[in-house]
Amino acid sequence: MTPTLEMQFKNAYRHILDSQNICIASHVQPDGDNIGSILSLGMALKKLNKNVYLLKTDEIPSDYKFLPNVNLIKDHDNIDEIDIFIALDSSDEERLGKNKDLLTKAKLIINIDHHISNTNFGHINIIDKDASSTGELVYDFIKSMNISIDKDIATCIYTAISSDTGSFMYDNTSAKTHEIAADLIKVGIDKEKININLYQNKSLERTRLFIKAMDNLELYFENKVALAQITQEMLEDCNAKMEDSEGIISFLRGISPVEVAILLKEFKDDEIKVSMRSKRYIDVSKICSVFGGGGHIRAAGCTINESIDKAKTLILNEIKELFR
Ligand code: AMP
Ligand code: MN
Ligand code: MN
Repeated sequence: MTPTLEMQFKNAYRHILDSQNICIASHVQPDGDNIGSILSLGMALKKLNKNVYLLKTDEIPSDYKFLPNVNLIKDHDNIDEIDIFIALDSSDEERLGKNKDLLTKAKLIINIDHHISNTNFGHINIIDKDASSTGELVYDFIKSMNISIDKDIATCIYTAISSDTGSFMYDNTSAKTHEIAADLIKVGIDKEKININLYQNKSLERTRLFIKAMDNLELYFENKVALAQITQEMLEDCNAKMEDSEGIISFLRGISPVEVAILLKEFKDDEIKVSMRSKRYIDVSKICSVFGGGGHIRAAGCTINESIDKAKTLILNEIKELFR
């Protein structure tokens, strides 16, 4: 941990000790890093006898339902006083969805994240773009507070890190990431259970959706760009949910000549969520920021309020310059 990070964690801890009601919120369409981070930090702060509220923003994807205490992430109506609001893995206030309004109610906002595009919307901003995941930062935070990492906490941190590193494969995986993972394994987590739940648990509906998406795969710019889409009609045909599109984007990037993978997800007729991944040299967060989104160099996203065909044209137009 760098000295600056350590000081920021100490500062956050000081405020936590002085407070009672702490909210930790998930981001919209929460992923493994987000859910694992919320649960682990929530369990840790409960050990300090704080009232911890884990706020649900969107539905928890079924992949993560195996996590300990996942049911604690729920809607909490009428929380009277919020001493501290902790945002995890959320690059800006919009990512908090319906819970964004609570920011104004909170006496203090702590913002812990690893997105390069983070807008520093907290009073205390602990942002480390070199961390593989927010889970990695939560590990450091819990350690710096001297709270013991038990098996449940370790399971959630391991899930967070594994999710955001593509199971310790992506370039954001550092020596430190592996050191943390080793420590979590020593705590006695059930690695096999976690891995099966995260990576070997695909439903038939999800499999059918994958086949359909691949059947309509489009390749552009000498096969350097792969594009797939998930429409509402496809979901209906496969009896699948949007969360079942998980995994498609990384498959696209895995195709040999592909540098940029694009997945268009039609949430509504005029609400298209775009996911992008790159392999070696394209900064996809830059492309997504043109459309008001963001993320990381190799993994980013944005939402375009147009039809899916229009969204596709807009995106392809934007990236064609890069492949001239
Ligand atoms: P996804 O494709 O949804 O897995 O997102 C990839 C990365 O981009 C994640 O790190 C997200 O936090 C980030 N991201 C996705 N959508 C947005 C958005 N609309 N605004 C900012 N960041 C985003
Ligand atoms: Mn996330
Ligand atoms: Mn993350």
